[in-house]
Amino acid sequence: MRIARFVVDSDPLYGIVEGAPGEEEVTVISGDPFFGGIERTAVRHKLEDVRLLAPIIPRSKVIGIGRNYAEHARELGNEVPQSPLMFLKPNTSVAGPGDPIVLPDFSDEISYEAELCVVIGRICKDVPVERVDEVVFGYTCGNDLTARDAQRTDNQWARAKGFDTAAPLGPWIETQLDTESLAVKGYLDGELKQDGNTDQMIWGVKELVSYVSRAFTLLPGDVIMTGTPAGVGLIEAGQRYDVEIEGIGRLSNPAVRR
Ligand code: MG
Repeated sequence: MRIARFVVDSDPLYGIVEGAPGEEEVTVISGDPFFGGIERTAVRHKLEDVRLLAPIIPRSKVIGIGRNYAEHARELGNEVPQSPLMFLKPNTSVAGPGDPIVLPDFSDEISYEAELCVVIGRICKDVPVERVDEVVFGYTCGNDLTARDAQRTDNQWARAKGFDTAAPLGPWIETQLDTESLAVKGYLDGELKQDGNTDQMIWGVKELVSYVSRAFTLLPGDVIMTGTPAGVGLIEAGQRYDVEIEGIGRLSNPAVRR
């Protein structure tokens, strides 16, 4: 099931996206699916008539995982870490489908990173690998934008990966997905730059959620970005980056400089 967050007139709503590509409709659901379950209303819209928003604004955190694809670690001259390398992105870094990525003025080297993202569905802590499915709400596409220059100069990655709009998410959350082997692709102005597969991840989704939950209590709506495959590069103002993940869809954002 595809759960989207969107606006038609004013207030954000949640809905279920269904239908053939190009003819999708959104059925409004009542309340917040993270806390009230998924209950359909009689209200429907054509997908093209709504404006999609980030499918979730995490109440507490976005957790990033660095260097989870060996080829990507190598392309930047890094070793593969001995255990999952975690960092945090604030919820103010989240942007929605189509929203501009605002390149920060402290950096001349903003890189795109196409990533599968896990959206947590219930409060949890110390989750065993075999019970991870019970705490996952679903999956979405994300772009873990990174200021490479600030990443090199700052000991902590807070600024390099946490600036406003550094975490576009969307276009919706797919609640039923086998994540063992999914194509993860990234396109810069339509040109294929990243062409990976989740089967290349050093730590898979279940291991990551379990590992992360040993450090942090996870809350409904928290997001884990699972790392990017090889092929990263810089994005300039006026360019657009699309993240496409098999079984989910495509997230597209233009970059601007203010
Ligand atoms: Mg990343």
